[in-house]
Amino acid sequence: MARRNRSIEIFNASKKILPGGVNSPVRALQGLMVDPIIVDRGAEDIIVDIDGNKYIDFCMSWGALLHGHAYPSIVSKVHDRINRGTSFGISTKEEQKYAEKIVEGVSSVEMLRFVSSGTEAVMSALRLARGFTNKDLVIKFDGNYHGHADPFLVKSGSGLANQKSSPTSLGVPKGVFENTISLPYNDLEVFSKVLSRKDVRKNLAAIVIEPIAANMGVVPADHRFLKLLRQYATDLGAVLIFDEVISGFRVAKGGAESLYDIYPDLSCFGKIIGGGFPAAAFGGKKKIMEFLAPLGTVYQAGTLSGNPVAMEAGMESFRLLEQPSFYKELDRKTKIITKPVEKAISGGCIQSSVGMFTLFFGVDKVKSFSDLKQMDSKLFAQYFRFMLSKGIYISPSPYEACFISMAHSDKHLEHVRDLILKFIDMHKDKCVATSKELCGVMP
Ligand SMILES: *Cc1c(COP(=O)(O)O)cnc(C)c1O
Repeated sequence: MARRNRSIEIFNASKKILPGGVNSPVRALQGLMVDPIIVDRGAEDIIVDIDGNKYIDFCMSWGALLHGHAYPSIVSKVHDRINRGTSFGISTKEEQKYAEKIVEGVSSVEMLRFVSSGTEAVMSALRLARGFTNKDLVIKFDGNYHGHADPFLVKSGSGLANQKSSPTSLGVPKGVFENTISLPYNDLEVFSKVLSRKDVRKNLAAIVIEPIAANMGVVPADHRFLKLLRQYATDLGAVLIFDEVISGFRVAKGGAESLYDIYPDLSCFGKIIGGGFPAAAFGGKKKIMEFLAPLGTVYQAGTLSGNPVAMEAGMESFRLLEQPSFYKELDRKTKIITKPVEKAISGGCIQSSVGMFTLFFGVDKVKSFSDLKQMDSKLFAQYFRFMLSKGIYISPSPYEACFISMAHSDKHLEHVRDLILKFIDMHKDKCVATSKELCGVMP
């Protein structure tokens, strides 16, 4: 692989005018000790950097590209639409058409609103839940990511007993983080305990969860856990919000809710829904959605919401995932990597769902964020560098998932599988040892 001289040049220039040289922190590849990558183009499962190096891509725009890069029919739909204007700020038929498809595809969604990012979707769903219940308190779970809006940049404190939560970013006002309680994922006991508190029962507006967590690596929720959440939300009149920004349209057309057969009051979608363009949505029960302006008095709006170009791209992506056996095939592709690695690894694990997986070093099983304390992030950095040197771009953080698209060829997946197995074999001793020195410290 050639050097990335032009990438280095552009990144250095970017650093002078973009904080950290990037527009989203993880792109800075911090702590991985590799030269920066400036991407130029992509097709199918391959990306090409500005220096001409090719990589098999497992970031896939963080999962947004279910059909790979530059999928021909998506590109052509977008071209057609662009020629007739790109944005109006006036309703278009594409919004109605796409909304109808989503309502038909996702059981719990009776009505929805399009927005432009996942952050906006979850932030707006929470405001709506608060408006609907006329309450303030929200419960979320450590290690789940819901975008960068204030109320979600909160983690649990050390004293689990009274569950004082603290912000994970500067700039989150006290009044905001005091209304968020963050709890351990998949912990039925702590959840029930907190829900026995009178102040919580009285003030709870919403419970927000990633039903299949994918932002602390892939960690599916325990079925009993989701069921418990559903039950408490119903009993207390709180709004259960599934953040399906990653899982929606990835694990099944009907989302994670359809796999668990547990249904939220509101859901949030992003990534795949835009077919590679900036679109997201939140939706759910009609009686809640009708609280939104202009029908109701919960305010929410957006200049580019339901943008017709994004709608066309999303709709074509949706049409493709509706093809028979689509998810069976995606699952088969995923298992080309996950099954053999599962067998080979010790002192680590691979966790997955349909179309995504995470390799964890130094932990045998991850059920919640605290399990990641033992994670060996140094070994992850080595793994990242090893894969990159072989022309494989995996998601550049041990806390993220690798995404498989329908464009990933079996040949490429088998090649990557063999490289992962080789890496595991090369680091056998390390993969077995989970001593403190080898374990990275969590950020
Ligand atoms: C990516 C993500 C978001 C935020 O979406 P953006 O479009 O990046 O704002 C929210 N929730 C989950 C589960 C995500 O994975």
